[in-house]
Amino acid sequence: MNGKISRQTITSKLPEVGTTIFTVMSQMAADSGAINLSQGYPSFDPPQGLLERVSHHLSNGVNQYAPMAGVPLLRTAIAEKTQRLQGRTVDADTEVTVCCGATEGLFSAIQAVVRAGDEAIVFDPAYDSYEPAITLAGGITRHVPLSIDGDDLDFSVDWQRLVDTVNKKTRLIIVNFPHNPTGAILEAADLDRLADIVRNTDCYLLSDEVYEHIVFDDVPHRSLLSNDELWERTMVVSSFGKTFHATGWKIGHCIAPKYLSEEFRKVHQFSTFSVNTPMQHGIADFLLSDPGFYEQLPAFYQEKRDYFCGMLDASRFKLQPAHSTFFQILDYSEISSDIDLELAKRWTRDAGVASIPLSVFCDEPFTGARLRFCFAKDDATLAAAATKLCAL
Ligand code: PMP
Ligand code: GLN
Repeated sequence: MNGKISRQTITSKLPEVGTTIFTVMSQMAADSGAINLSQGYPSFDPPQGLLERVSHHLSNGVNQYAPMAGVPLLRTAIAEKTQRLQGRTVDADTEVTVCCGATEGLFSAIQAVVRAGDEAIVFDPAYDSYEPAITLAGGITRHVPLSIDGDDLDFSVDWQRLVDTVNKKTRLIIVNFPHNPTGAILEAADLDRLADIVRNTDCYLLSDEVYEHIVFDDVPHRSLLSNDELWERTMVVSSFGKTFHATGWKIGHCIAPKYLSEEFRKVHQFSTFSVNTPMQHGIADFLLSDPGFYEQLPAFYQEKRDYFCGMLDASRFKLQPAHSTFFQILDYSEISSDIDLELAKRWTRDAGVASIPLSVFCDEPFTGARLRFCFAKDDATLAAAATKLCAL
């Protein structure tokens, strides 16, 4: 021994984890000069009014620690919005916590309830941050695939499969609607079905609703907050990153009944303590003064979806226009029989458009021949990408 720690003796707590597909594909797009429709972020700025409020607070002495649970005015604004949109009365002091993006909210929520040996259920394709957080809590991830309904290309929840998976060890079910990557949404009857399944169990729910304001075709977002029975056992996590075109700001929130928020805050307090102060004040001002901003998001993104999909009419891809989110799934089965990961990489290098394969979010082999393309881009970028995709 030379007194140095041996690299060989470390036993990774996350042996399966590598670099996320979002980082891999964005890097590949940058290296090959491809149009990057892979990682989901807008190519446009947050609203000017919001930027002004944040600048104002940055320059006016609001630059020290915020309260652990979040700036009170922001929590009040979130509670008012929740009351108005979901009809749920939540206590801004005890049931709303501002967190460091949805990622921290999801992580803290999972650590708060999942114990060693507990099972947590996710729906595949599942957002990539859930399983590592479950593993770190000592839990076991159970995967329930979304089903693909025949030829119409839609994904939906196979409730019977969920019934078959829930058991005495199930501690948490994580749902994510509007769903990344498929754009699937829940209908009112789905909430009732979920309530039937968890009734008389000790199972909590974590609802990742970061795309809550990006739903199309006049279909409303069905938050788990809107259901009285579900609310009693649910933590709902969302993110201002999607709502305000500001994915780099990493500010989100968790809304949960008091007893769950208390446990959530015990983790949040020691994973981050508090979230950056001037942006919380800026967002609070903007939310209270301009609620119309997020109300126009469905129309704004639906126009982009329709523009992108319309241009792809001339392509060999099959598609069902997304029901939600800023992602469009394209079925490439008439163009190639390659597996999606290889194809996504090849088309980034050779066709000049980067996308995200779906199979990396699935536990069971996924042979659906689908790639995800982000349409939160300016029209010129979408047109240039569509031209390249139509040539395939
Ligand atoms: N959940 C889903 C489904 C997401 O798509 C994302 C990122 N876009 C997050 C959570 C993480 O959100 P944030 O960037 O606010 O951490
Ligand atoms: N949520 C983003 C997406 O789905 C990626 C976030 C990240 O890069 N971790 O593309």
